[in-house]
Amino acid sequence: MSRDVLVASEVTVRYGGNRAVDGMSMRIREGELVAVAGGNGAGKSTFVGAVAGWSRGTPTVTGRVELAGRDISGLSAHARARLGVTLVPEGLGAFAQMTVKENLTLARPPKDAARRAYELDEIFEIFPNLGERQGQITGSLSGGERQMVAVARALRGAPQVLILDEPSVGLAPKIVEELLRSVRRLVDTTGLAVLLVEQNVRAALAVADELHLIERGRTVVQGPAAELADDPRISAVYLGGTHA
Ligand code: ATP
Repeated sequence: MSRDVLVASEVTVRYGGNRAVDGMSMRIREGELVAVAGGNGAGKSTFVGAVAGWSRGTPTVTGRVELAGRDISGLSAHARARLGVTLVPEGLGAFAQMTVKENLTLARPPKDAARRAYELDEIFEIFPNLGERQGQITGSLSGGERQMVAVARALRGAPQVLILDEPSVGLAPKIVEELLRSVRRLVDTTGLAVLLVEQNVRAALAVADELHLIERGRTVVQGPAAELADDPRISAVYLGGTHA
C-alpha cells in the first residue's frame, strides 16, 4: 500500500456562526488523484485553502492536517508551501506576459525542499503542448494551455501534494478533458499525490481514483471513482450537468 501523503481530519472552517466547511476528512496517498466536487458555494475552495493554510477573511479553522505523517495544522501557508503543500488557486498561477519557458525557469523550489523539483524535459513529457510552445507568450496560449503552465510552474516548486482549485473553470468540455487527462498522466508517471477541485462530477470521475462530493461543507458521497460512476446518488447530480 502506498504511503499517506496528506491526511485531513475533521477540518472545519467557520465564519462567525456559519460553517463553510463542516468536519471534512480526506486521505491522499502517493500516486493518487482525489477529486472534490460540488456546486457553487459548497465549500471546495475553503476546504483546500484550509489544507494549504490559506483563508479569505478571518475564519476559525479547526481540525488536523498531516503531511507525510507530520502535523502541519499550526503552520502558516508559507511554511506549508515550503514543505511541499502546493496550491494552484483558481484562475491564477502563471504570468501572462512571460513566455512559457520564462514562467517555468523562474519558478524555483525552496532550498530545503523535501522533494526534488521537476525538470523542464520531464514537464514537457507530461505536457507536450508546452514543449512545442516554450517561446510563446503565456497570455497568447489557449485557456487550457495556460492552466497547464500554472500546473507546470507548481511542479517546479517540488510539491509533495499538488492541490488544483478548479483548473478547468471557463474551459470548453473538450479542453477540460484534455487538461484532466494530463493531470492523470502526471499522477501515473510521477507518483505525485494530487487533490483536484472540479465542479463537473462526470469530468472528475473520469480521471480520479476517489471522489468526495460535498454539499454545504460536508462530504455527502465518498468512494472510489470506478464505483461511483453507477451510483444513483451521483446519477441524480449528472442530470443537471453540474450540481445544484
Ligand atoms: P465555487 O465553486 O463557487 O468556487 P466553492 O465550493 O469553492 O464554490 P467556497 O468558495 O469554498 O465554495 O465557499 C463556501 C462558503 O463559504 C460560501 O457560502 C461562501 O459564501 C463562504 N465564505 C467564503 N469566504 C468567506 C468569507 N471571507 N466570509 C464569509 N463567508 C465566506
